[in-house]
Amino acid sequence: MGTTAVEGKLAGKTALVTGGSRGIGRAIAERLGRDGATVAVGYARDETAAREVVARITKDGGRAFALHAELGTHGDAARLWAAFDEGTRAYGNGGAVDIIVNNAGVGYDSELSGIDEETFDKVYAVNVRAPFFIVKEGLARLRDGGRIVNVSSGASRIALPRIIAYASTKGALDTFTLNLAKELGPRGITANSVAPGIIHTDINASWLRGNPEAEAEAAALSALGRVGQPEDVADVVAFLASDDARWVTGRVIDATGGSGL
Ligand code: NAP
Repeated sequence: MGTTAVEGKLAGKTALVTGGSRGIGRAIAERLGRDGATVAVGYARDETAAREVVARITKDGGRAFALHAELGTHGDAARLWAAFDEGTRAYGNGGAVDIIVNNAGVGYDSELSGIDEETFDKVYAVNVRAPFFIVKEGLARLRDGGRIVNVSSGASRIALPRIIAYASTKGALDTFTLNLAKELGPRGITANSVAPGIIHTDINASWLRGNPEAEAEAAALSALGRVGQPEDVADVVAFLASDDARWVTGRVIDATGGSGL
């Protein structure tokens, strides 16, 4: 018989996954739930999807709740943690968290010439400012020995001027990760970034889904010859969230399937 969520590696832990309703975040939430964590499934607009993720986790014997938190506006982190306190009350854990996964992010396809200040601020507000303040405001709740995983992108490590603003948000996130690792190390808290390559999710749907030519081109970028799936990233996050990764911190872990080698 397989291990149940109650006996899993993360049993007794509580995890927050922002953007847990769809795509990579959904796969992360489901995986952490299977590993035994109580999962706060963050979402902004798609409540139905978040509730589906919660149902999936609980059906498999895990514990989860949907957490409404629209990120990208001032005060978003404080509102998120207030909703988290409300959600965790049922589990009597006193609002503590063990694993913070900053996954929610927005893409923006444009060269330098096409970015205005408003768009720049919006992309940075969701991809950089929100994770920054979620961690800052969450530190009192984050237990010693905890984990922070920031979902970055392979785009922060190569030049892709076509997505210059988005790519630079992920560079900022990686530097945030590096500094968090140093600051929080004395408490046994690790902080790492995971950098996916092209993954089949809604963020890429407009150009990738149902387009065999684009699929072939995207697959050819990876040494493994295919486009990634959300679970390819979720399994790496699950490793970093586990005790197995206790000696890994301040790093950007590549999950691009060997893209651009
Ligand atoms: P996705 O399929 O578009 O899903 C985005 C998720 O983030 C949804 O759960 C969405 O919630 C949530 N979200 C979006 N805007 C939000 C906001 N303002 N406040 C709160 N939540 C918000 O995206 P994905 O492809 O899974 O991407 C997840 C992360 O991986 C992102 O940080 C992205 O940059 C990174 N990444 C993705 C790829 C890729 O190829 N897919 C590659 C490298 C890195 P609602 O649906 O409820 O609005």
